[in-house]
Amino acid sequence: MRGVATISQSALLYNLSVVKKYAPQAKVVAMVKANAYGHQLDLVTPLLENADILAISEIKEAQKLRRISDKPILLLSGVHSSEELQQAINLNCHCMVHHSSQITLINNTTQTLNIWLKIDTGMHRLGLSSDEYQQCLSSFKSNPLINIKCVMSHFACADEQNHPMNQAQLKTFNTLTDNKNNRSMANSAAILSLPESIFDVVRPGIMLYGALPFKDNRFTLKPVMQLSAPIISIKTLQTGDCVGYGASWTANKQTTIAIIAIGYGDGYPRHATNTTPVLINGALHLLVGRVSMDMIAVDIGSAKVAIGDKAILWGDKKLRVETVAHHSGTIGYELLTGVSARVSFVSGK
Ligand SMILES: *Cc1c(COP(=O)(O)O)cnc(C)c1O
Repeated sequence: MRGVATISQSALLYNLSVVKKYAPQAKVVAMVKANAYGHQLDLVTPLLENADILAISEIKEAQKLRRISDKPILLLSGVHSSEELQQAINLNCHCMVHHSSQITLINNTTQTLNIWLKIDTGMHRLGLSSDEYQQCLSSFKSNPLINIKCVMSHFACADEQNHPMNQAQLKTFNTLTDNKNNRSMANSAAILSLPESIFDVVRPGIMLYGALPFKDNRFTLKPVMQLSAPIISIKTLQTGDCVGYGASWTANKQTTIAIIAIGYGDGYPRHATNTTPVLINGALHLLVGRVSMDMIAVDIGSAKVAIGDKAILWGDKKLRVETVAHHSGTIGYELLTGVSARVSFVSGK
């Protein structure tokens, strides 16, 4: 009896329909990097079937994805050697060009190649400077083997709706590009809150999985991953009794503790504080004491529970992954991508 991550197929479809509602004209690149944000590539079939393009970070992920999908694959990191270039071509990947060191490599291709150009408009992580971008455009235009599929850039602060960087980056992007090429700027946060950043192609990630990149209850995304685990022990504690490693929590009155078979070895955050809710039989209760590798303790007060009852750690209308992230000093992205292989992943309605 251990943790189970149930991946809702209808929630994936619903969240994709929300993307289409906000960006009805745009092509959709479904971001499925990091094993579909931890949801497992082979369990996100509605995305693989209904997105226009699928994006992953590196060749190994592309190999795995190609076994289960015929869709175009965008290789976000691009290629860094002629071996990788050949692998990318064999896998029918679109290659990102984000650094000037990739220009010669790409230009030496002996087969037709679809590329994307990534411009750095202010995030200063990946991306070509405006000069390098112009250089790419002219150099690749004279190469009949190279198709420029799209030019794109990435926001640094899209999850902060009024951050001045957003308009500054958009302005730079608009200055450098025109509608002769397909353009792409919007990630989830921008799709939902910066309509002027929606060009020909959008790149939703976290919203497809039903989590929001910012706090805002206007949006009705459906959680895709429900992480649950069974209760494996129940104990009555007297005033003064403590729980778990470090004896960090002590009962200040008589109460009942449920021990749940999930811990940091499963990807439940060790930094979750004693303000973190856990959902048991429809009611929220609080985590108590430290998170162990294999289990956590929850103060259930006088609630009626039994060994084997299911505790939901996240992925319910009443308990979203964002809430657990908030109480653990992290973000939903990290919790979702961090669920470990010990958890059983299953496809659900
Ligand atoms: C991961 C990623 C996205 C998706 O971001 P979300 O915040 O998950 O929507 C979009 N674009 C690029 C380049 C990315 O790497």
